[in-house]
Amino acid sequence: RVLRNPNNSSRVFSSLDRSFSSDSNLIRATLFPGDGIGPEIAQSVKQVFSSAGVPIEWEEHYVGTEIDPRTQSFLTWESLESVRRNKVGLKGPMATPIGKGHRSLNLTLRKELNLYANVRPCYSLPGYKTRYDNVDLITIRENTEGEYSGLEHQVVRGVVESLKIITRQASMRVAEYAFHYAKTHGRQRVSAIHKANIMQKTDGLFLKCCREVAGKYPEIVYEEVVIDNCCMMLVKSPSLFDVLVMPNLYGDIISDLCAGLIGGLGLTPSCNIGEGGIALAEAVHGSAPDIAGKNLANPTALLLSAVSMLRHLELNDKADQIQDAILKTIAEGKYRTGDLGGKSTTTEFTNAICDHL
Ligand code: NAD
Repeated sequence: RVLRNPNNSSRVFSSLDRSFSSDSNLIRATLFPGDGIGPEIAQSVKQVFSSAGVPIEWEEHYVGTEIDPRTQSFLTWESLESVRRNKVGLKGPMATPIGKGHRSLNLTLRKELNLYANVRPCYSLPGYKTRYDNVDLITIRENTEGEYSGLEHQVVRGVVESLKIITRQASMRVAEYAFHYAKTHGRQRVSAIHKANIMQKTDGLFLKCCREVAGKYPEIVYEEVVIDNCCMMLVKSPSLFDVLVMPNLYGDIISDLCAGLIGGLGLTPSCNIGEGGIALAEAVHGSAPDIAGKNLANPTALLLSAVSMLRHLELNDKADQIQDAILKTIAEGKYRTGDLGGKSTTTEFTNAICDHL
């Protein structure tokens, strides 16, 4: 199958929605460098954008040191307002302490900004060999509910309960987005991934909504695949899939599996789509504490996420230029980071991309 432009997630707003800086024609975008390797890979994006002459002015926001009562998390209200105003942004990974503490920063962003769909393209990179050379799929993850609803409590000592919430409203919205995405991106098939044989009510409702939307898109092939079977099929023959749509937790897991098919988490971008035309791009990976601060991180995933942000802004020439430079650098193989079997630092790899612009 011919690779389509995988970072071209559906454009959801017109150029009228851009926010310009006061003294020039630069478009304002919010940047959260994030935690761990976040600041290093965000620096790489800033360097590449500046070398390519991208007309963006970053509004940088950092995670606060105290809980902001208006967000109930370390994310400040001002940073959320920045995304609401600019409608477009790039986010580095944000760490979440396991099993304790405050409301997750990622959950806060998704809920407060109503980022209802997370689009995760995954495709084989030309010149970087893995077991597969024909991966070209898009995971679309429902982003606001499911097991991520944050509704957990202790029933009695030694027994805890976590609620999985599925609503018709959120399921219809993400299903509609997935089919619209498929139609506008020349994709042929949408697979709804589920476990409705066990989660009969929740995943059952999700599937019902997908079926309802599928009826409006007769040109798109629709199928339903149980998640365990989907994992097996992905590992055996990833080209069977095209666009996959699924509840929140499944999307989190399946997209990491997909990253593994093409070379790892250093390579896979994503974009969060919100109500009112908001697009907040971010890498699929986390803060990688094991390599943070060592100049070892692969910035490709965040760079390709930034490229998808440029496409939303209809800056397609700049997006193509940067994407080509990234792919050429990786294909050439002289400068690769450790996760791809190379010896280059984040800085050396970034400089090589700039040389290819
Ligand atoms: P992780 O994605 O941070 O790391 C998993 C493995 O992949 C590690 O070995 C890491 O070194 C490697 N890796 C990830 N990104 C890489 C890159 N760009 N270049 C090279 N290697 C890379 O997952 P984790 O260790 O489970 O999570 C660490 C923290 O990140 C946790 O606090 C978690 O909650 C958070 N997290 C945040 C997000 C997000 O902000 N969207 C996503 C996932 C995890």
